[in-house]
Amino acid sequence: MIRLGKLLVQHVLILTISCSALGADNRPNIVVILADDLGYNDVGFTNGQTEIQTPHLDALANEGVVFENGYVTHPYCGPSRAALITGRYQARFGMENNVSYSPDDRYMGLPLTEKTFPARLQEFGYKTALFGKWHLGGAPHFQPNERGFDYFYGFLDGGHNYMPGEVHLGAGGYLLPIMRNRDVAEFDEYLTTALSRDAVRYVERASKEQAPFFIYMSYNAPHAPLQAPQSYIDKYTHIKDEKRRIYAAMVDAMDEGIGMLIDALNRTGELENTLLFFLSDNGGLYPYSWWPNYTWADNSPFRFGKVALTEGGIHVPFIAHWPKKITKGKRLNGLVSSLDIAATSLALAGANVQGAELDGVNLIPYLTGSSKVSPHKALFWRMEESDNLWAVRTEKEKYLHQPLPGLGLAFFDMVKDPNEQHNIFGQRPEQEKKLAKLWNDWNRKNRPNLLLQNEEYEKRRASFYEALYQENLKDAQKPQWYIK
Ligand code: CA
Repeated sequence: MIRLGKLLVQHVLILTISCSALGADNRPNIVVILADDLGYNDVGFTNGQTEIQTPHLDALANEGVVFENGYVTHPYCGPSRAALITGRYQARFGMENNVSYSPDDRYMGLPLTEKTFPARLQEFGYKTALFGKWHLGGAPHFQPNERGFDYFYGFLDGGHNYMPGEVHLGAGGYLLPIMRNRDVAEFDEYLTTALSRDAVRYVERASKEQAPFFIYMSYNAPHAPLQAPQSYIDKYTHIKDEKRRIYAAMVDAMDEGIGMLIDALNRTGELENTLLFFLSDNGGLYPYSWWPNYTWADNSPFRFGKVALTEGGIHVPFIAHWPKKITKGKRLNGLVSSLDIAATSLALAGANVQGAELDGVNLIPYLTGSSKVSPHKALFWRMEESDNLWAVRTEKEKYLHQPLPGLGLAFFDMVKDPNEQHNIFGQRPEQEKKLAKLWNDWNRKNRPNLLLQNEEYEKRRASFYEALYQENLKDAQKPQWYIK
């Protein structure tokens, strides 16, 4: 009865929203395009590099807003995506490591205590779709269709092979079949293009409906493995390093896929009232001493890359685009977070966020120019590993702990030294205390990490099955039986 009451209230709310303005639903479509492990300097719109061609992204940046200080909440995939999709820092719910693909483990995924923002959009009348990488759980109750998506075309693990013909049932990880909703789907061209083409078909269908739509375009490009069609690689013969040449081709194919999607939005008349975000889930790979061969991405002018709390790991290419509302060609300097995507989308949808405890802010006043201050006073990072790692950034300063060459405890003046070249730890003790207090206050609402890192998890899982087998083997030592 209570449940029915709640449903009725929801229904009335949806009717109220969709019947306003004489039946027209003027709420914007929302499109979030996420790249995977993309270097800060590997698109044109950040620093103006021209080695890799990203004309479609650069055009979106020119016609929209570039976030000069746009951040993700974690320097690698799973936790960063968990925060983006919930609008909450992942440490709020103990998800500080990558989810392992483990469909028999009913606990290995984005905790069910968390509601994704697409699930909230759904409740308020949006049609929702995910294309590409999920990485938030493989068990049936963790899959996209159960976590807020009406439609899904993609894969459940943290990455995938790009070439068709390489998948097969029973394979693990990157060779798993591509799925449409809960079933095995066709996969017959370069994955980046296949995902883009399916999103184009979706836009064509969704544009015929009354309801606004939400698209999460979650490319695995340009995440490893390094694979691209020869026609794309041939455009980059001027790049001598073979790995970077293929990587460039992967970024190029993603940009072209984004172009296909924009073209579909344009053709169907949807682009004008679509709020689009583009960002990367973390920085590009960096050749640390333990990964000396990961040389292909370029995070300059920032230090280090993926897995680091310096700018190279968390400060990402990030733009917003909405022809109907956003002033063209703006560059916003305030602190912006991937957490803001959920808060902004839910505000535009008129969704109920009571009890949601969102950590982001609605960016619309900043995008439309009515607010000149920074959207955030401070942003926070936490990695609960063997050696606790943390960072806090205000508009003017950054304080972090990370045991990398030249770092350890580090303090940077982000106004004079935005690329973190001069560690001035020890020179501003009052400010260090102040930033540490900000971090501790933020941390009070967090909880300890709940997830083992992949390698350790896989080891434990293997030993569980080994122990189970040994137990069964022991049981099978009893005498054989026969019909009497
Ligand atoms: Ca990533």
